[in-house]
Amino acid sequence: MAELTIDRERCKGCGLCVRACPKHILAISRSFINRQGFHPAEITDSDACVACLSCALTCPDICFVIKK
Ligand code: SF4
Ligand code: SF4
Repeated sequence: MAELTIDRERCKGCGLCVRACPKHILAISRSFINRQGFHPAEITDSDACVACLSCALTCPDICFVIKK
């Protein structure tokens, strides 16, 4: 299965990827704040990812890396 990672230091926490994910496995972190001062997106259940790329295609800041 695909391995998805998010560069949380690039993320500005806009939430677009959270809304784009059909599996509802992305969320904005409540606890972590990055160096830009944003709460970044995080994956909540990587085993459920179907590698559809919706998150990566939606993100305006190119935060996603998906390896198959
Ligand atoms: S690749 Fe698809 S299923 Fe996986 S986190 Fe991104 S939007 Fe969700
Ligand atoms: S779309 Fe990109 S910048 Fe916006 S919350 Fe998701 S990973 Fe962060």
